[in-house]
Amino acid sequence: MKIICIAKNYAKHAKEMSSAIPKEPIFFMKPDTALLQKNRDFYYPDFTQELHYETEIVVRINKVGKHIQEKFAHKYYSEIGIGIDFTARDLQRKCKETGSPWEIAKAFDNSAPVSKFIDKTELPENIDFSLKINNKQVQKGNTENMIFSVDKLISYLSEFITLKIGDLIFTGTPEGVGQIKIGDKLEAFIGNENMLKINIK
Ligand code: MG
Repeated sequence: MKIICIAKNYAKHAKEMSSAIPKEPIFFMKPDTALLQKNRDFYYPDFTQELHYETEIVVRINKVGKHIQEKFAHKYYSEIGIGIDFTARDLQRKCKETGSPWEIAKAFDNSAPVSKFIDKTELPENIDFSLKINNKQVQKGNTENMIFSVDKLISYLSEFITLKIGDLIFTGTPEGVGQIKIGDKLEAFIGNENMLKINIK
């Protein structure tokens, strides 16, 4: 499986990163070794001094597809979860300065914790989601504020990359990204449901 992540899909996050609002979706990828599941602990890596959380709604592809039309994209996913796109912001800044790819800052082991998945029919059309650190809310979003909808993302991505069963799409973070430190306890919510817990060790 592969993990495809969307960058700058919420205008207020693009603004806090001093980035322009994209005209087409921007994506990058994480390998399967980035996946962290079952509320396992995350070990703070030695190579960064500025590890950030980005809380994102994640969709799981349930059907193989290529050149998917936007109007049919809803048939290619049935389950939704929440994940954290862990980002070594100091390394990412260097990548941006030199025009290098982002993988060193984004694709490292365990950089993609993901919750259990729930059937999308159990969720409202516009999904509220949030992150608490040490019991204090630090991030809050609603999918209605996405620049590109999930259907648009699936259609766009499938022009370039065949989507396969089990692939995950991280749909972008709202504003409020920030640093984590060893000892933090992260809890991610969809609506009021606590979906994902991560202890930073
Ligand atoms: Mg992200």
